[in-house]
Amino acid sequence: LSERLGGVFDRLTKAGALSAEDVTAALREVRVALLEADVSLPVARDFVKRVQGKATGAAVTKSVTPGQQVVKIVHDELIATLRGDEDPGKLKIDNPPAPILMVGLQGSGKTTTTAKLARRLKEREHKRVLMASLDTNRPAAMEQLAILGGQIGVDTLPIVKGESAVQIARRAKSQATMGGYDVYLLDTAGRLHIDEVLMDEVQAVRDAVSPRETLLVVDGLTGQDAVNVATEFEGKVGITGVVLTRMDGDGRGGAALSMRAVTGKPIRFVGLGEKTDALETFEAERVAGRILGMGDIVALVEKAQQTLEAEQAERMMKRFQKGQFNMNDLKSQLEQMLKMGGMQSVMGMMPGMAKMSKQAEAAGFDDTMLKRQIALIQSMTKKERANPALLQASRKKRIAAGAGLEVSELNKLLKMQRQMADVMKKMGKGGMLKQAMKSMF
Ligand code: GDP
Ligand code: MG
Repeated sequence: LSERLGGVFDRLTKAGALSAEDVTAALREVRVALLEADVSLPVARDFVKRVQGKATGAAVTKSVTPGQQVVKIVHDELIATLRGDEDPGKLKIDNPPAPILMVGLQGSGKTTTTAKLARRLKEREHKRVLMASLDTNRPAAMEQLAILGGQIGVDTLPIVKGESAVQIARRAKSQATMGGYDVYLLDTAGRLHIDEVLMDEVQAVRDAVSPRETLLVVDGLTGQDAVNVATEFEGKVGITGVVLTRMDGDGRGGAALSMRAVTGKPIRFVGLGEKTDALETFEAERVAGRILGMGDIVALVEKAQQTLEAEQAERMMKRFQKGQFNMNDLKSQLEQMLKMGGMQSVMGMMPGMAKMSKQAEAAGFDDTMLKRQIALIQSMTKKERANPALLQASRKKRIAAGAGLEVSELNKLLKMQRQMADVMKKMGKGGMLKQAMKSMF
């Protein structure tokens, strides 16, 4: 695949920004890669379409081809899609006893995952855990859970013949309450395919215990079918998260993207083997790399971007040394701060600047403020940015109004730029700047 991609990329012309043709050509290969990774067709199609819009017009880093750049954008977007806002490893299990419902098709790995999760909760979070099998169709499945419980030292609800799934669920609930358990896991019966009887039963169990978490267990090797399973369970039962099993196999794990896209629910864990300790918290980066299978290209583009950033920083330092510090420089600094999420920027690391950055912090210099100041600079013309002294009162008013701010804000910004330029000049003369640079790079 890499070879084929290489071919396409070579044919692409080098340019400053990605053209629609560049993007289309590279995305054709990306689409194939996604399908080869077993991402479902509609999900792959939607994903590619979304990236198309984002990538067109994006800047191409020097020394990488447009095609490589597209792969990097795809990779980043894949991570963003796979990763939810929530911490995947953190289940909502306060207010004991918290019921967790495990659902999915037969053979997906529900019983195994139930035991894995019980072990994790016991060992890592020191929870008192109770497990119960609701698989009334297969006595062997109940035995299986009891045996696993014995292995990991987690209690299982005693088996009572002739009970319905709902009856077992109710008994688990009262046992968990009376026995002082923190969590109880309900391992439901699966079917080979989705059917009404299964869904009705799972719904009844859900209504009987109101689970805090309902985890859909899906075989990570299932491809196109994963979407149907996810849609059904999400629609009929409602799930709070997904566990992908058999991620220790050869599959590329495209089901992860399909599940996430279709349900919008976080992927919480991945199963990496048959043993009860083979469960890991879902990591978007790892799975994204595996789905795309273009790790080399992503690494290459990241390296090129880092090199470029270092070059830019050096160029800027040369200007500073000459005592040049205009609004463009200030804008870069503000953007850098925004990116680094605070005042720990280039400026903050330089002697003489540290104090100023502390003052700025004390003055409520937060993200909103940074964004406002950047907006102010953006409203200036090229000439004004290069030489802010040109700004007349009337222009100041217009610029401030354009950014929806008071003129006093703009004056503050101008003062800041003048102070910075002063410091740069002084430092440049004393050779301090060179020293500061050395300590930074
Ligand atoms: P259930 O029918 O959904 O309860 O599925 P089981 O938990 O009984 O699992 C079915 C089979 O899949 C068993 O042989 C498990 O050992 C195996 N299995 C479950 N999870 C994993 C996994 O993450 N990796 C591998 N390699 N096998 C797994
Ligand atoms: Mg089972």
